[in-house]
Amino acid sequence: MKVGVAGLGRMGAAIARRLIEVGHEVTVWNRNADKIEPLVKAGAARAASPTELASRVDVVITILTDAGAIADVYEGASGLLGGNVSGKMFIDMSTVQPETAVALAKEVAAKGATTVECPVGGTVGPALQGKLLGLAGGTKEDFARAKPILEQLCRRVDLVGPIGAGASMKLAINLPLGVFWQALGEAYSLCRHLNLDPAWLMELFADTSGGPNVLKARGGAVALALQSKDPGSATFDCDSIRKDFRIMVTEAVLPLAEKTLAIYDSASQEGWGRKDCTELPAFWSSHQAK
Ligand code: NAP
Repeated sequence: MKVGVAGLGRMGAAIARRLIEVGHEVTVWNRNADKIEPLVKAGAARAASPTELASRVDVVITILTDAGAIADVYEGASGLLGGNVSGKMFIDMSTVQPETAVALAKEVAAKGATTVECPVGGTVGPALQGKLLGLAGGTKEDFARAKPILEQLCRRVDLVGPIGAGASMKLAINLPLGVFWQALGEAYSLCRHLNLDPAWLMELFADTSGGPNVLKARGGAVALALQSKDPGSATFDCDSIRKDFRIMVTEAVLPLAEKTLAIYDSASQEGWGRKDCTELPAFWSSHQAK
């Protein structure tokens, strides 16, 4: 199938690579052109604008920072909706407010095309392996049309409800994840004085009732950060999760999320914004040590 990916950030680039690997004819576009070349080397075609991208493919996937980025990429003379897109399908995977997903679907429908929202759980590694968790919103018919391609990107993809439902669900799953990193930092404060090996400690935490799946995958990185060693480049950074928490607290009364957001905000102010959120326990630990 001819598939376009607009937005080659950490997630978009990984998704484009996965689509190439499973045999699609992939065309890519990104605002910052530097990110296009590695994908062209991997086998993708380059589009000069979002309009050109949409004109060359049947399905367009977007995964962009926020509502502002979506407006910039979809709207305007050179935007994804700038040409004739009648009959095409747009799958937006960005983590945004439900109302952003609903507004986008209306704009796309006005051009005779269809939208499925499918924000995803999982980061760069699972995206490269086609093992994301897809939380789709849309009609049953549109979801059925999008499903074959979503199943190549996701280990599991569920239709949560109409457009907007996927966005709500994605915010819901990110709340305990974001809170967890601070909870782990606080838990570490209770046992740091025992001077235990952080790698062993993370493995033990991961084997307890309170240890989530993410700790099995990322415990090693947390342990390195706790020892002030390099845990590798960020895949989901503190500033990204702050963006999600800022949306969450506008959607419902969430005292724990508000407190957690304040901690991520202080981490960001102290220069930890571009670090992975798995480093938050190290931030908290270094803070307590002062
Ligand atoms: P990222 O690496 O920062 O990439 C963001 C992408 O959005 C880039 O392609 C960037 O283009 C583009 N963009 C931002 N503002 C733009 C604008 N005004 N006009 C055009 N393009 C714009 O972010 P990411 O980590 O891939 O995340 C992308 C989305 O996926 C976010 O909604 C995030 O919450 C969600 N998500 C992330 C993860 C994760 O683990 N990282 C997991 C699940 C979901 P430039 O390169 O030109 O800046």
